[in-house]
Amino acid sequence: MEIAIIAHDGMKAEMVQFLNEHKDVLHQKSVQLISTGTTGEKAEKAGFEVTKFLSGPIGGDAQIAGRVAEGKCQMVLFFRDPLAKHPHEPDISMLMRLCDVHDVPLATNPSTAELLIKAI
Ligand code: PGA
Repeated sequence: MEIAIIAHDGMKAEMVQFLNEHKDVLHQKSVQLISTGTTGEKAEKAGFEVTKFLSGPIGGDAQIAGRVAEGKCQMVLFFRDPLAKHPHEPDISMLMRLCDVHDVPLATNPSTAELLIKAI
């Protein structure tokens, strides 16, 4: 199962905390993590194996959206910062739309991510 992790700057600490709290599930061989660039670097520093794409603002969200569209990514954990503006808002909307188009589970905050992780 391929799981995408993405966190806006204001939510990166929460993402690392989330990953650490769910190490047991996320370290399983059946789980492959993919991520946008900077989120992936943080996850690697925390000891996770991650396939990193471009940083979000320069196309990483769009690359992950492509994997969702191609049926390669089965879950997206996207910790959005609702209090910040993002220059790549069109890419973010595209990613969320494609999750809906392809019926891929999408969590946009840690509480929902927690529920999704408990379900796998
Ligand atoms: P980043 O991208 O992980 O490269 O910071 C996240 C985003 O802003 O979508």
